[in-house]
Amino acid sequence: MAQRNVPVSSRLGDVRYEIRGALSRRARELEAEGREIIRLNIGNPGLFGFSVPVHVRAAVESRLAQSEAYCHQQGLMAAREAIAARETARGAFGAHAENVFIGNGVSELIDLTLRALLNSSEEVLLPSPDYPLWSAATVLNGGRARYYPCPASRGHLPDPDEVESLITPRTRALVLINPNNPTGAVYPTDLLKALVRVAERHRLLLLSDEIYDGILYDQAAFQPLAPLAGDLPCVTYSGLSKMHRACGYRVGWISLSGADSKLAEFRSALDLLSALRLCANVPTQWGVAPAINGPDTTAALTSPGGRLYEARRAVIEGVRNSEFLSVVEPQGALYAFPSVRNEHFSQFDDETFALDLLETENVLVVPGTGFNIRERNHFRLTLLPEPDQIADVFDRIERCLDRLAAG
Ligand code: PLP
Repeated sequence: MAQRNVPVSSRLGDVRYEIRGALSRRARELEAEGREIIRLNIGNPGLFGFSVPVHVRAAVESRLAQSEAYCHQQGLMAAREAIAARETARGAFGAHAENVFIGNGVSELIDLTLRALLNSSEEVLLPSPDYPLWSAATVLNGGRARYYPCPASRGHLPDPDEVESLITPRTRALVLINPNNPTGAVYPTDLLKALVRVAERHRLLLLSDEIYDGILYDQAAFQPLAPLAGDLPCVTYSGLSKMHRACGYRVGWISLSGADSKLAEFRSALDLLSALRLCANVPTQWGVAPAINGPDTTAALTSPGGRLYEARRAVIEGVRNSEFLSVVEPQGALYAFPSVRNEHFSQFDDETFALDLLETENVLVVPGTGFNIRERNHFRLTLLPEPDQIADVFDRIERCLDRLAAG
């Protein structure tokens, strides 16, 4: 008798993660054939010669022997206290160690918070483009994604009226990604205040993904959401992966802020879900307090002459010199999200372009539609390579677009 395929959950039908999707698999095949692929698809600093700050790594190494047991489901107290102190210093209302949960990266906590929150068919307002885990976790937890547009024509910023117009009786939460992945937009304070007022009017939980909060260019001013939200319930997400370049440590955290009375039930749900998975990796949690309280190791990278700053400059120049491209200059985070001007093409398709770029020029980028936008003329690349390599990448992109434009 023929063996039946193992059936999978129908919930997976709408779930995509193009950052590590079919193109990435194709890149691996090409590498196995001996090709050298320039991988610009993942914001993983360790792959590009960046290292974890010495004081963070040393703290982890020195505590290995004390990391053999499970810790509390919310995480090590020393780490939670450092996180809560930082949130309090930034002006978050009611942040304290009991309201901090540490996870195996922000990724785990995005899933956990949405699992704690959502009933079947309840809606979450997500930016379009988004970081696609937000969409995936919404759907996998039974919810529905409703997208508020953040188009290039508006500097990739949301319009609070448009956000409000998407709210239905089933809407539960408003997600912000600031600084934004994939666009690099950094939200101005007035805009954040307007979004807080929307959440307040409709009793939405604010979910603010601030994992790139210290990666800022050209004096961009980052405003955390929690202090503006006051006693409204707000979840702030951050971690070691980006600012502290420790993706492999798998440490992220959330801090709940707002009136305790409004948070009690949600907090208990998070506690239960955290307990079910026992705890996050223990050794690397020892790096949290030194990372938060130690010297700033990011500013040198994002200031003129620094690697990220110069890489960003190379991207902006590459776009400026291109016949086909435009970009909203990223103000923060580790990516640029250029668009291809449609006038040069009868029908441009981001996926066809990205595949062509990989096959012909050995460059791996992520098509814009992988970030849940309708337009098919964007792509994302990371700012992590050496600036010289970025200049070379833009030569390759231009050659590929030239060929596609010639049909
Ligand atoms: N949120 C955003 C916006 C991200 O870009 C990422 C990773 O790229 C994450 C969350 C997940 O980060 P981690 O699980 O490494 O903490």
